[in-house]
Amino acid sequence: MADLSWLIDPVYIVTIFFFIIGMQRMSHPLTARSGIVWAGAAMLIATLATFFTPGLTNLALIAIAIVIGGGFGYLAAKRVAMTDMPQMIALYNGMGGGAAAGISAVALLGTTNATTGSLAVIGGLIGAISFTGSIIAFMKLHGWMRPRPITFPGQQVVNMVVLALAIISGVLVILQPAWLPLSVAMYLPLFFVLSLGFGLLMTLPIGGADMPVVISMYNAFTGLAVALDGFSFATPNYAMVVAGIIVGAAGTLLTLNMAKAMNRSITNVFFGAFGATEENVEIQGSMKSIETDDVAVLLAYANTVVVAPGYGMAVAQAQQKVKELTDLLESRNVQVKFAIHPVAGRMPGHMNVLLAEAGVSYDHLFDRDEINPEFPSTDVVLVIGANDVVNPAAHRQGSPLFGMPILDVDQAKNVIVLKRGQGKGFSGIENDLFYRDNTRMLYGDAQESVGKLVQAVKKF
Ligand code: NDP
Repeated sequence: MADLSWLIDPVYIVTIFFFIIGMQRMSHPLTARSGIVWAGAAMLIATLATFFTPGLTNLALIAIAIVIGGGFGYLAAKRVAMTDMPQMIALYNGMGGGAAAGISAVALLGTTNATTGSLAVIGGLIGAISFTGSIIAFMKLHGWMRPRPITFPGQQVVNMVVLALAIISGVLVILQPAWLPLSVAMYLPLFFVLSLGFGLLMTLPIGGADMPVVISMYNAFTGLAVALDGFSFATPNYAMVVAGIIVGAAGTLLTLNMAKAMNRSITNVFFGAFGATEENVEIQGSMKSIETDDVAVLLAYANTVVVAPGYGMAVAQAQQKVKELTDLLESRNVQVKFAIHPVAGRMPGHMNVLLAEAGVSYDHLFDRDEINPEFPSTDVVLVIGANDVVNPAAHRQGSPLFGMPILDVDQAKNVIVLKRGQGKGFSGIENDLFYRDNTRMLYGDAQESVGKLVQAVKKF
């Protein structure tokens, strides 16, 4: 076959442009789908171009791996429920970290100099941490492990010792000092076992509620590991370097934005063991339930209604019914707005995606800073499956939620909360909004409750 290796770098440069266009399009819900297509096409083209690498061996093994991995990815993505998306991202991200660690191992087993060797060691360390850390994140989110932080005395010291030993064994892999008895073949497995172990230890003390932030951080780690690996070859692989840097930068920005939306620092997320202790606050009053018809009257004769959706709307898949209710109320000249909290649901933009999917136009969505001043003049707020993001405990000193910016729905004239029962929010903290005088509880699955409301409003 003709030598087409000269094509690799120009093709990689084209794919880099595709990645950047994809990223740019993902920044808005209306263009996000096509952004995914651009990035996916870039990945496919880059993979095909890599087959022009001179001297490529084990083609059959590579093809089998692509068929197994691609087939599994396709089926899993087709079947996954929207609510399970965060753990799927954790799993795929972990695979990326594991692949980066594997590339480092191959690079270190071949000929490296001090520079490429160091890059491969750092890439291997970060990739291995991302691999095991993401698997723990997946298990906590999927309910295969209890989500509470797992802590033990002296944990930080143990973690630091394991990290230090991983780094030392990595340095030995590069230096291969003649005065030490073991060969690189011995240090390398040790280096990876310690790095993988550190990923586990670092993630165990983090609670389930913080997992989305952790996944985003490990996503950034994977990007960084891939970029470093791209430099660890004799001829750098520029597609890996640029794609890795883009993923690393995007993951870092996303992590910082999520932490900011919860008013937490990154160190607090990683070392704060959030949720390990429970708050002991006695709440006065009782939860008061309301019937569907009574809510329908309130809605039908209101001037302004604000919908505050949360994770429960995603679980119930209630967005279509919510859109029906919105259209119905608007046909009666009721003004309907949506209050979108940046961390409502289980991933950034969760509510925007669901509502866009149901056809709610983007100009109906308002972020927290825009909508908060409007609550005192709002007739009815419908809280649909939201809990933590509307919890006034965030204003109470000493509460684990203290300082988290929330939707101030308690300021509205009437607050109707749609949820199934007495379930707490993801943080596990009791919500005194549900006990307030202006709050009524409409119990039931959100999809069913909103469906009944649609029928009931039509009667008035
Ligand atoms: P929460 O997880 O706090 O509460 C969801 C509520 O929905 C529960 O109280 C539950 O009560 C109710 N619910 C569950 N299923 C249904 C159903 N079928 N029908 C009706 N109600 C239902 O959700 P929020 O969106 O308010 O908060 C998100 C949480 O996730 C925050 O703690 C946030 O910090 C965290 N988080 C989110 C991130 C993100 O990127 N979005 C990132 C990091 C963390 P009941 O069981 O009684 O029905």
